[in-house]
Amino acid sequence: MTVIELLASSPAVFTGTCLVLGLVVGSFLNVVIYRLPVMLERSWREQCAQTSGEAAAATVPAVGAAQRFNLVVPRSTCPACGAPIAARHNIPLISWVLLRGHCASCGEPISVRYPLVEALSGALCAAVAWKFGFGWQAFAALTLTWFLIALAFIDLDHQLLPDSLTLPLLWLGLLLSLWGGQAGVSPPPVDVRSSLIGAMAGYASLWSVYHLFRLLTG
Ligand SMILES: [Zn+2]
Repeated sequence: MTVIELLASSPAVFTGTCLVLGLVVGSFLNVVIYRLPVMLERSWREQCAQTSGEAAAATVPAVGAAQRFNLVVPRSTCPACGAPIAARHNIPLISWVLLRGHCASCGEPISVRYPLVEALSGALCAAVAWKFGFGWQAFAALTLTWFLIALAFIDLDHQLLPDSLTLPLLWLGLLLSLWGGQAGVSPPPVDVRSSLIGAMAGYASLWSVYHLFRLLTG
């Protein structure tokens, strides 16, 4: 029996696998939630600096232009002492519990938010796997879940829903609703008609809030 066959035949194995996958991806989501807004702000500052004719380096702090900063580089460090986080201290949920929520180098507390995001991702992924079972719908719902967790926490911190997360999700959703149900492909959880109405209604509601806010506040 291959791994795929095992996942397809046993809901319990598939749910357990998605739970672990959810924990691991949850750990990466913590990185996205923290770094993506910083990356966006840097990019906006650079654009502003270019538009106003200043040298980008003048407005971007020391950590700026020269030093690469993205979702992969540099390695994660402790916000308090700057010590790089060793791989063995980066195991989702388990490391935080073993370290009792404190940095291994300096002993400063590590926010409970990190294990919470990991646990939330793990639990939601297990629920998705249980609900949909093995198939493309489950993988689409897992992707949606991860994007929504990242969006929810970035929104909570910065009142911002980055286009780089919302727009791919919009197109991916429409594409999958169109693709699902084709010959040999199981039907999508949401049909094309509902997807299209959802996309328009979602856009229109946020567009209205934006313009209503501008109208009221000037
Ligand atoms: Zn530390």
